Amino acid sequence: MRKVIITGLLKSQGKDVGAEYENLKQLEFADYDLVKKRQEEKLRDLLLHCAKYVPYYKSSLKAFLESEGKDLSLFYSLPALTKKELKEHKDLLTSTDCHERACYKNFSGGSTGVPVAFVQDKHSWSVTIAQKWLFYSFLSDTLPLKNIKLWGSDRDVMQGSLGWKAQLKNLLYKRKVLNAFAMDEDKMRQFVKEINAFKPELIEAYVEPAAALARFILKEGISVHKPLGVMTSAGTLYPDMKDVICKAFGDCPVLDKYGSREVGDIACSCKENSGLHLNCFSLFVEILDENMREVKAGEIGKVYVTTLDNYSMPLLRYELGDMARVAKEKKCSCGRSMPLVSEILGREMNMFVKRDGTLVSGEFFIHFFSSVYNDDSVQRFQVVQKDYEELLIRVVLKDKEAFEKAKPKLLLPIRKIMGESCRIDFEECEDIPPLKSGKFLYTVCEIDK
Ligand SMILES: [Zn+2]
Repeated sequence: MRKVIITGLLKSQGKDVGAEYENLKQLEFADYDLVKKRQEEKLRDLLLHCAKYVPYYKSSLKAFLESEGKDLSLFYSLPALTKKELKEHKDLLTSTDCHERACYKNFSGGSTGVPVAFVQDKHSWSVTIAQKWLFYSFLSDTLPLKNIKLWGSDRDVMQGSLGWKAQLKNLLYKRKVLNAFAMDEDKMRQFVKEINAFKPELIEAYVEPAAALARFILKEGISVHKPLGVMTSAGTLYPDMKDVICKAFGDCPVLDKYGSREVGDIACSCKENSGLHLNCFSLFVEILDENMREVKAGEIGKVYVTTLDNYSMPLLRYELGDMARVAKEKKCSCGRSMPLVSEILGREMNMFVKRDGTLVSGEFFIHFFSSVYNDDSVQRFQVVQKDYEELLIRVVLKDKEAFEKAKPKLLLPIRKIMGESCRIDFEECEDIPPLKSGKFLYTVCEIDK
């Protein structure tokens, strides 16, 4: 009933998430060859659109247009699209007919410390949400699942209260958000109380706060409501984190979800624990070596994503900056048609710690740098906690003047979380290199915890 109301409301706004979700459900267990064929058809249509309407791709896809879309192999000669290129050429990447789709601008944290702006529309948004629902349905088909989100909340940080619209939306979606940007022991105890009272079917959480809360629950020996599952995102779910979360929440399944704002959900594990299923419906995901060749089963490569449904700003072979290992098994025992990767080697963060023991999520900084105050002035950033009351923020700037203007706004939430007496220094850098593994550390805590 609730699903009918939600899909009806969305449809009245021109967002047919319900129909998109039904499409996905029909393909979920379909024959892989059929899924692959459909994906190729979508790719072909998208490339033809790019050749006609996206200035950035017009010349490189000219031959594809001339072949009337017959020669799909031309796609594989396209170079990768980096975040830097997306930032520099976002106008050329926006389709010239995008106004017909009532497109709008959105921002992303991505996963390499490079915040980016991108354009999307109602259709691409609907497909993104439908895919999110499909991953939720890995736990139960009865959507919406009663959901507690251990998430970041601007309003809590800025001491505001939730507007009535947001409250109504949470009620309709059976959803409650607990602010996980900063957690001390009292807050964690309170979270457990709220979980026990609300009895969620799903706990959706940033990975590091989820693991911190789980460790606290086990340490204190508190009994907690068992959900159908915990779904983590925004960071790598390491096996020890998975174990501790599973144990704390009554041996429930822990699903590992990987995604980004600009392309949506990319992959998610199911209850079978055999890896992450790739979203092969609205995305074409490639795991490639340094020569842009597909890596073999069991090997690690870089993740490149082509968004099949965003015609307002199509991203072709978009390099997210993360790596993934292709699974050795072709098929998961759950029977789903979506191919598997066995692990994602992506975003790395350290949690910060305050003198009173409060843990501050690394996601907090990503959120404020990349989404809330993104004015395109920062190319790359890294926040280092040197001491309890000392932060160093490294930035690679694109627009120094704009950044100086945005700085006071940026400092406000950081001071609210870290304390007014916290010293915050900025260091302008030419570049902030990733780790040897290729991963990028957004937040580094130099305090011996
Ligand atoms: Zn599976």
